[in-house]
Amino acid sequence: RKLNFSAGPAALPEEVLKQAQEEMLDWHGHGLSIMEMSHRSKEYVSVAEQAEQDLRDLMHVPDNYKVLFLQGGATSQFSMIPMNLLRGKKTADYINTGVWSIKAIKEAQRYCDVNIVATTEHNNFTSAPTQNQLKLDASAAYVHYTPNETIGGVEFDYIPDTGSVPLVADMSSSILSRAIDVSRFGLIYAGAQKNIGPAGLTVVIVRDDLIGQTLAGTPTMFDYAVHAASDSMNNTPPTFGWYLAGLIFQWLKRQGGVEGMEVINRRKAEKLYQAIDQSSFYANPVAIANRSWMNVPFTLADANLDNLFIEESEQAGLLNLKGHRSVGGMRASIYNAVPEAAVDALIEFMQYFESKHG
Ligand code: PLP
Repeated sequence: RKLNFSAGPAALPEEVLKQAQEEMLDWHGHGLSIMEMSHRSKEYVSVAEQAEQDLRDLMHVPDNYKVLFLQGGATSQFSMIPMNLLRGKKTADYINTGVWSIKAIKEAQRYCDVNIVATTEHNNFTSAPTQNQLKLDASAAYVHYTPNETIGGVEFDYIPDTGSVPLVADMSSSILSRAIDVSRFGLIYAGAQKNIGPAGLTVVIVRDDLIGQTLAGTPTMFDYAVHAASDSMNNTPPTFGWYLAGLIFQWLKRQGGVEGMEVINRRKAEKLYQAIDQSSFYANPVAIANRSWMNVPFTLADANLDNLFIEESEQAGLLNLKGHRSVGGMRASIYNAVPEAAVDALIEFMQYFESKHG
């Protein structure tokens, strides 16, 4: 296997893939795969419940929060959030820090007046606004933000204080990467395909007093209360993704939980940014305090060398380093499942490439 720096679907821990492979044909002596099992069987329900409990343990989710295992990706949440959380109000606050914030804003504008409480468009989305820069409206239904912008590589270094207005976070590319206080949030959501498991599963953690007051006309499948009342089994859930996420949660516990990952993730990011900053050949434009621990974009001094960098890195066994088409350059996504040794190998390759072509 090669070293995979994909932004998503992203690398999964080899140990977990091997475990899934071992169980694939015959799950725990039952003579069939977990994929072939009814979601209502007691065996599957126990897998599903254990996964939820492990996620609750890892994130220290308070009892007054529902944990939902849904489909539709983080993108469906862009509309589910206004449909469920407006609760009779007409406006919602949104912080704009880049590509994913903008997508969430555009979708919300179909349902309500969106108040942009801060934007970093003026610096081409290379920082996050500070708390003082947020022009929050105390009567807004909720405040939405993207703690980690996967494409720009911009991460908030604080959790916004929104008073009594519920805070909503798109944690698709940062969930489980460091310890957070869930009680600061009204709702947290994440597509699974980066830090949780395979694509096709979406995790939503929502405070229970916020659900059950949907906009008129909200489809049944877009109502959090329906999913909460049925333990995410109103219809057939993404059973394989949910199972595999459960294996990842157990793997995370073996790594010392989110607190353990935080120490490793900080170290991985620091050494990669240090390698970029120490060289005049590589550059990262993001304000130091807002540099993402998960997605590290960088450019080469000469963009004509980009294709060669990709070609040679692939030959060296380093995959998916090409930056997003909207920003160009390179991007190394170093989620939980990317081992520190992979970051070391990337740094070594970057130094070699610079010495050869710089
Ligand atoms: N939000 C963020 C921050 C992302 O990085 C992504 C990435 O794919 C999405 C939303 C969209 O997720 P999905 O493809 O699950 O809809």
